[in-house]
Amino acid sequence: MPHLPAGAAHGRAVDPVLAGRLSAALARPAAQQPRWPDAGRAGAVIGLLHNAEPIVAPEETALLSRRLASVARGEAFLLQGGDCAETFAGNTEPHLRANLGVLERMAGALAGAGGLPVVKVARMAGQFAKPRSGTVDALGLPVYRGDIVNSPEHTAAARTPDPHRMLMAYAHAASAMDLVRKLCAEGIGEPLAAQGALAGARSAAPAGGRPLAEGDRAPSEVYVSHELLLLDYERAVLWADAGGPEPRLSSGLAHFLWIGERTRQLDGAHIAFAELLSNPIGLKLGPGTTPEQAVEYVRRLDPHRTPGRLTLVSRMGHGQVREYLPPIVEKVTASGHEVIWQCDPMHGNTRTSGNGYKTRHFAHVVDELAGFFEVHRRLGTHAGGIHVEVTGEDVTECLGGAAGIAEADLPARYLTACDPRLNAEQSVELALSVAGMLRG
Ligand code: PEP
Ligand code: MN
Repeated sequence: MPHLPAGAAHGRAVDPVLAGRLSAALARPAAQQPRWPDAGRAGAVIGLLHNAEPIVAPEETALLSRRLASVARGEAFLLQGGDCAETFAGNTEPHLRANLGVLERMAGALAGAGGLPVVKVARMAGQFAKPRSGTVDALGLPVYRGDIVNSPEHTAAARTPDPHRMLMAYAHAASAMDLVRKLCAEGIGEPLAAQGALAGARSAAPAGGRPLAEGDRAPSEVYVSHELLLLDYERAVLWADAGGPEPRLSSGLAHFLWIGERTRQLDGAHIAFAELLSNPIGLKLGPGTTPEQAVEYVRRLDPHRTPGRLTLVSRMGHGQVREYLPPIVEKVTASGHEVIWQCDPMHGNTRTSGNGYKTRHFAHVVDELAGFFEVHRRLGTHAGGIHVEVTGEDVTECLGGAAGIAEADLPARYLTACDPRLNAEQSVELALSVAGMLRG
């Protein structure tokens, strides 16, 4: 755990005005929240979490904000990805290593093509809460809302929301973050010597560093993110941040938080909560978003016109992106705010296969990205990044790709706790396709 430097503009004491705004934000209607059966127990857990150490340091979050400002200005590219839903059982070194590894390989392909630095943000170390389309499943049981709320087994006991799970989620996120730091320090990519140009590799070694040993890697810079969904959890680990244009709160739980398609009500708690945060914020925009709403989001979430403060994540579906995205981009651009335009080509392209699996076709994912790049090229705006559900493991959850995964292949290794992810091979293939789009 990094220690906060003495005299930093961060601390536990939140000024009364900000505390009042926080209470008002949380009093607004909040979609997609569990109903804890015992409010007293939930309150006790929130009280315990109030004393928890932050998992991320505000200085790291501030550095990410600077990186994202470059993305907004067209000088860098944002790659965000990982599991749809992390699970407690899946919070293992091999899994985290595999997911960071595939992100690094994707980043390598993108950086090589675009000639721009790639900012890497993992869906990791806290992506435990899930929004759902319904409240009960086919059996009439409460839906699974992620390991931070309940358990996926088909029994009433497993599906009953349990606030104690928020403590488990915090512990899992903290240990995952420790591992992310360790793996980043070691370096996640290919050994430098294997990257070919030894001269280039030498110059990447620390100044005055030792000669390159076989297996040496450059340290990696990866930030962590999750959906800002479960407000009882998110509200519990906040730091006062006096470093910006107005006093705000810095989440100690992730560098980057995004608001999902199902919780972006303009009068709701999630938007009001995000307004108070100093962290960079993402916002998913589905096909129902109007250009007027988009401008209202930008006004609310980027009041100081900070480049890269807000990432607008379009997830329109491959058949709709070319029609629905342009008026949004035009109106937001005319407003003068410098947002990051990011494409999530997964969530608008979900369907159920003939044999009953929630899946996505690789070709649809690529087509939505192609549409996204076409729109930005035509409008002269920067296609700033992608947000994808991927894993470094050899799963069979999405159709297509070079290996030609077919519906009959899906049952073999369909392991996701929620939405279907691209496997390692499909992920790298996707990055190579995007690399082609970046080259233009
Ligand atoms: C997600 O990112 O897993 C998700 C639920 O996305 P969306 O809010 O865009 O549907
Ligand atoms: Mn998902």
